[in-house]
Amino acid sequence: MWGLLHTEGTKTTGKQSESSPKEWTGVRRPRGYRGDVRLLVVEDEEGLVSALRSGLGRAGYAVDAAATGAEATEKLATTAYDLAILDITLPDTSGLDLCRAIRRGETEVASGRDLRVLMLTARASLADRVRGLDEGADDYLTKPFALVELLARIRALLRRDITSGTSQLEVGELVLDGARHLASRGARELSLTLKEFGVLQYLMSRPGHVVSAEELLEHVWDENADPFTQSVRVTVGTLRRKLTVGDEEQLLETVIGRGYRLRGAT
Ligand code: CA
Repeated sequence: MWGLLHTEGTKTTGKQSESSPKEWTGVRRPRGYRGDVRLLVVEDEEGLVSALRSGLGRAGYAVDAAATGAEATEKLATTAYDLAILDITLPDTSGLDLCRAIRRGETEVASGRDLRVLMLTARASLADRVRGLDEGADDYLTKPFALVELLARIRALLRRDITSGTSQLEVGELVLDGARHLASRGARELSLTLKEFGVLQYLMSRPGHVVSAEELLEHVWDENADPFTQSVRVTVGTLRRKLTVGDEEQLLETVIGRGYRLRGAT
């Protein structure tokens, strides 16, 4: 049984109260794992935010959160999110107004037109749903909702992106299947951690390009990652050792002072 999430103002029965977000701990990483996808959750209910953080994080997404419209505006301007989940009721604005500002270009959005917007609403009336879509939301979900449904909506929205429409990447001998979370070099299957997989996926989507540690930190790690730790360097190091065994050609290069580059197909 999946935990349902409800909003302030929603009547909760005893049964619903028991199905707290902690039930989400049973969620497995879904087949749609995408280590380089970054989400912004704009919601002021702390319980829901922490449940979304853990549920979406466990699904392999990098998750940031904003509790107010002002905080969301600041984050959208500086970080290239793939998708924003906007609650309608926020302390300083409404998700509808925020969505309109995003779509009209009144709010600076680092990811531009690529940003997809999913509205969360406690209001299930047709008029409210239509209004949300009119303001430029790509989809909406009515609270309370089950995590599995949210994950399905997110996957559907991300699939709409033509540039990352395929989850299968191929660079030289390397093949990565994002949908099945499999990576291989030639006939050799690679056993990668979540972060190593995310780093490889990001590099494989940009073969031959130098990717900085900051860029990896931004897209594969979430905002809670300490930028002063050596976690990117360590993960790239372990990934490099797994990519190349014996006398195989080295594929992942360090470009001193700039970042990392995956050797493109030759
Ligand atoms: Ca709210």
